[in-house]
Amino acid sequence: MSLTYDVIVVGSGPAGSIAAWRLARAGVQVAVLEKAALPRYKTCGGGIVGRAIQAVPIDVRSVIEQDCHTAQLHLSSTGVFFTTHRPSPIVSMTMRDQFDYALLSSAQAGGAVVHQRCSFEDVSYHGDCVRVSTSMGEMKARFVLAADGALSRVARKVGMADGRILVPALEYEVTMPQDRLDRFHGVARFDFGILPHGYAWAFPKRQHLSIGILSMVEREGELKRTILTYLDLLGCRDVAQIEHHGFVIPIRPRTGPFMKHRVLLVGDAAGFADPVTGEGISFALRSGQSAAQSLIEGNLDEQAVHAKYTRSLAESLMPELRAGRLFARLLYDFPRLRSWAFLRQGQRLCEAVTDVMAGTRTYRDLTLKPQTLISLLTPPWIRKAGDRSA
Ligand SMILES: Cc1cc2nc3c(=O)[nH]c(=O)nc-3n(C[C@H](O)[C@H](O)[C@H](O)COP(=O)(O)OP(=O)(O)OC[C@H]3O[C@@H](n4cnc5c(N)ncnc54)[C@H](O)[C@@H]3O)c2cc1C
Repeated sequence: MSLTYDVIVVGSGPAGSIAAWRLARAGVQVAVLEKAALPRYKTCGGGIVGRAIQAVPIDVRSVIEQDCHTAQLHLSSTGVFFTTHRPSPIVSMTMRDQFDYALLSSAQAGGAVVHQRCSFEDVSYHGDCVRVSTSMGEMKARFVLAADGALSRVARKVGMADGRILVPALEYEVTMPQDRLDRFHGVARFDFGILPHGYAWAFPKRQHLSIGILSMVEREGELKRTILTYLDLLGCRDVAQIEHHGFVIPIRPRTGPFMKHRVLLVGDAAGFADPVTGEGISFALRSGQSAAQSLIEGNLDEQAVHAKYTRSLAESLMPELRAGRLFARLLYDFPRLRSWAFLRQGQRLCEAVTDVMAGTRTYRDLTLKPQTLISLLTPPWIRKAGDRSA
């Protein structure tokens, strides 16, 4: 006999877990399928930026290993760096096995059913019912939420149009003696110029450092070599224990639509990561909640849910991703313009991006008015006196 639910969520990352939490609280019968044994490691810097923390309606303090109120942006090989501080954490550091499991446990406590070591395999449609084949057998639901990450099998099986750009990223978990780790305490460090179209980062955790690198260009072959240079730069090459991981980040969303045949796409499966930083947790949380809210407000009616989810994405998430893409083009497609702008206006640019990460401004705020963007890139003596818009 197959198991039957209102909604089956595939994937227990932030997008899937938060959606399940919201659905369960509204009394919707929801099950989460997760192919891994839980809690599971996830290749990620584990940096939860301020705007993502604001999007979590659940108390996650117990899984935050360290708060960074300071961010530092280094321009490699120039010795120049910029520092920003905020009273609230700019980035809160976690390990994703713990963070995701905390969200999922809250969903479970609210009534969501969790099937771990259960892989989604295929999907078929029968009237207003979706049949889901899994490694545990067949299940049925009225809707399926594809929250199965960047390589989404659900999206492939449903035949969703793609058009995403998936870029490569590496994450090294570096264990080192406490006295050396202390040098990184409380600071989220970012390094530009270490490769032409990307950046590297060093995020301090309780007992180790998460060091990563990403390229905004597909098929970047140099990442493994460049991260070794970065380890040298940070003085970490000789440490005893380094775990190596790599995955992809979608820095451009699918062409859409984001719902087809009672299947909704959220998070990385939809391609909702920040095009400037590759940070994906805030948009995973926002899209997961938006999909859940559309299912609830649409009373599980296909047309109503479709209309609500499409409108919700079009009104908030997509315009922010579009504005981010414009900013990203300036940052990555024109390395010389970037160096020029940073050397002249580095502090203002860093303050602006810090505001976006902290959730006090948006990319739309920075790019909507052309004069704001121009003033970010133009030296003060050229700007008109009295222009304080950025
Ligand atoms: C190297 C690297 C560093 C990053 N650093 C950061 C960072 O510091 N901060 C940040 O905000 N973002 C970061 N990101 C991006 C972030 O990890 C993702 O954007 C985010 O995890 C997306 O969440 P999600 O819920 O959509 O998918 P995921 O977190 O990928 O979750 C998908 C889940 O689905 C499960 N699954 C997959 N297939 C199936 C299947 N067939 N059946 C059942 N279950 C399945 C997976 O096991 C997984 O648990 C980083 C990414 C990379 C690659």
